[in-house]
Amino acid sequence: MVVNFVIIEGMGDNMGRNLGVASLLVMLMLFSGLSGCFGDDLDFSFSDDEYLGTGIPGSLTMACLSSQKYTSMILEIDFEPGYEPETSSTDLLKERMEQVCDKPGGIEILLTETDFQHSGSWSADDVRDKGSDAKSNDPQSGSTLYWQAIFPSGEYENDGVLGVAVDASTIAIFGETVDEAEGPIFNRPSSEEIENCVLVHEFGHLLGLVNLVYQSPVDHEDPDHPGHSNNEDSVMYWAVESSDISSIITGQLPDEFDQDDLDDLAGLEAGTIEVEKQLWLP
Ligand SMILES: [Zn+2]
Repeated sequence: MVVNFVIIEGMGDNMGRNLGVASLLVMLMLFSGLSGCFGDDLDFSFSDDEYLGTGIPGSLTMACLSSQKYTSMILEIDFEPGYEPETSSTDLLKERMEQVCDKPGGIEILLTETDFQHSGSWSADDVRDKGSDAKSNDPQSGSTLYWQAIFPSGEYENDGVLGVAVDASTIAIFGETVDEAEGPIFNRPSSEEIENCVLVHEFGHLLGLVNLVYQSPVDHEDPDHPGHSNNEDSVMYWAVESSDISSIITGQLPDEFDQDDLDDLAGLEAGTIEVEKQLWLP
């Protein structure tokens, strides 16, 4: 049995009606074609080896936080024509990752225009497959760690999803949906601001935030939105992923990790917080 794990962002109005206020789903796809949405019933009880292969979001957290093996990092951005991210988004992502990941050899952005050869909506498996096809290198290549964001044309199969984190090294941002999430009043927040935050948010999931591959000593996970922060000043706040973002957050959008997020990552790096489901350990 193949169990896939995906963090799905931003339930739109249609999903909202069907699933209450749930804005995060974990989809357990049991065999291909048969999928179930379990709302808030996050199931982290994987057996010892179910996360192997491409891992789950957070399975390469230690590879990023430690410089013992992976001394440099490439943030690979593969975009379809017309979907290139804003420079402000990739600049901010690089800055945020440099803040938490120990990479003495540097962290670089690698931008590549790509035709994903995909039509119609996207599923988590599509993101995994097309992301894998487009990867310039294996995520763990020599002393370099590769994490990838794809920016495809088209939308996610569930309405209102701005981005997804699908395995240990792969996320997707859906530009059309991000554009639609722009605020109606004076276009605040702008689609650019939303893209900035959602990109950092998804990579935050690859860092294991919040409580994806560890249990924080601080109670800052939102019980109603598992895997997310309860602090609206954290980029890991649940509403960052929501297509209703512009109506939920009226002030400045959060675009940085808060102190609890940073403390979790520091604790993982120092070994004072136990980590699990890792593809690599120092
Ligand atoms: Zn999220």
